[in-house]
Amino acid sequence: MRKTGVAAAAGIIIGAVLFDSAPDSAKSIGVISTLLLLLVGVVTWAALHSLTRRTRSSTAMIGTVAFWGHSFVEGASVAVSFSLNPRIGMIVLAAVALHLVPEFYALLIALRRFGLTIRQVVSAELVSLGLLLTSFTLFHLFMPGASTTSLSLMTAIIGGGFIYFAGLLLARLKLSVSYVTGLTSGLTIALAWAVLSSQLLHL
Ligand SMILES: [Zn+2]
Repeated sequence: MRKTGVAAAAGIIIGAVLFDSAPDSAKSIGVISTLLLLLVGVVTWAALHSLTRRTRSSTAMIGTVAFWGHSFVEGASVAVSFSLNPRIGMIVLAAVALHLVPEFYALLIALRRFGLTIRQVVSAELVSLGLLLTSFTLFHLFMPGASTTSLSLMTAIIGGGFIYFAGLLLARLKLSVSYVTGLTSGLTIALAWAVLSSQLLHL
């Protein structure tokens, strides 16, 4: 069961990139640039990981950094879509609020797996939420016209960080039925929320 949960967390994190953030970036900056930036993200996070190797909970740390960056860019994206079109802004806000549930679940499982205590995980998630709200407020007030292109660039690089982190999570599991079941359910959850949020945008 625990193994299924960990594989599901990895599936949600990978699915968030594959079905949600990467297609969004690809629409804005193109498929090739998105793939290249994902690669840049993977390499950056691998370097970060090896640089902090001697630190305790280095893996949990680099995962947390990816989530924090992700939340910050997400808050900015919501603010920018608000300024472009308040109706779309509301929908993006609803979609972001909705996907925080699986995302925070995945972070909880992953960070616990890499040795953080519940208290540390809750703090990391509160900081993540705080960053989202802060960047939303900052961009809404001061930079409502920030370029969506640069946000897409950052999203893609951080997406690479997500993939690297989820890869570490999977690398610790032995291939088994619960591995496959967990991974598949995680990917399905991520796909479902990506489809749901794109449906919302077309209402
Ligand atoms: Zn997110």
